[in-house]
Amino acid sequence: MKSMSDTKQTSVLYAVVQRILFPLALVGTPTVIYVLLEQGVSVALSTYAVVVGLGFLFWLAELTMPYRREWNTPKGDFFTDLISGTVAYVILPIFLRPVYIALLAGLAVWLAAQFGGSLWPSDWPLIAQLVLLMLVADAGRYWGHRLAHEVPLLWRFHAVHHSAQRLWWWNATRAHPVDKAWFMFTELFFPILLGADGMVLSMYLGVTAVCGYSQHCNIDLKLGPLYWIFNVVELHRWHHSKDVRQSDNNYGNNLIVYDRLFGTYYHPERQGQPQEQVGTIGLINPNYPQNYLGQLRAPFINGLDKSDETI
Ligand SMILES: [Zn+2]
Repeated sequence: MKSMSDTKQTSVLYAVVQRILFPLALVGTPTVIYVLLEQGVSVALSTYAVVVGLGFLFWLAELTMPYRREWNTPKGDFFTDLISGTVAYVILPIFLRPVYIALLAGLAVWLAAQFGGSLWPSDWPLIAQLVLLMLVADAGRYWGHRLAHEVPLLWRFHAVHHSAQRLWWWNATRAHPVDKAWFMFTELFFPILLGADGMVLSMYLGVTAVCGYSQHCNIDLKLGPLYWIFNVVELHRWHHSKDVRQSDNNYGNNLIVYDRLFGTYYHPERQGQPQEQVGTIGLINPNYPQNYLGQLRAPFINGLDKSDETI
């Protein structure tokens, strides 16, 4: 089967944008955040302004070069994801981050004492610190996400994220608050223990926004060899497949390296399998609520565990 863009008449400019949008955003976003912070702009304003601006860029690209035109048609999901994103990505972190730091403070201090000082290599070049942070954050988050698929109680809450019936940049933010709290804990676990500092954490948030948008965006992007490193675009589309044999894979947050290491890498086009395009996405349950209050309640209602989602 040909990939979708192979069957389209595309201009040279289209082909160039397909290949450079992700790497440009990946480099540009943490760079802009770094420059703003150096200019004395607050952490909150630097991070949120860049992340919102980046989302606008992805939205424009979705309108002009969609992967699937039908995914640009609203499914009544705008306000669900607006509320969900505000709760999960703006309000919850304000409360949860200090709680997690306090919870892990004792262990972090004990570890630092064992090694005679802070474990975080603050003297490394910033780019090296950023790469290290991506590796350690993804190590925890990979297992957090994998357990969210394999432990029925966790799946009840994570199913909300998989309930989206189309993929576009906006539904990167869809998450039940309990699921978001679990994911945040697993993602921050090693960075807090190691004592990663504020500047590199802000740049990391920028990278995570680029990867989050790229995972869910409805843009016909081509990544080529970057699929060896990043779990975005095609790889994450498979993670949203309605067929759980496909979607129980590709768990990395930004990186695909732990999926390759632990045997959950799934990319049919590169693994020589016949199906090269993801089919229907979402949950098997056709009655799964699509409004925010319904999704808040859904994990507590009997009959919505993973056995109902298995083909
Ligand atoms: Zn998932």
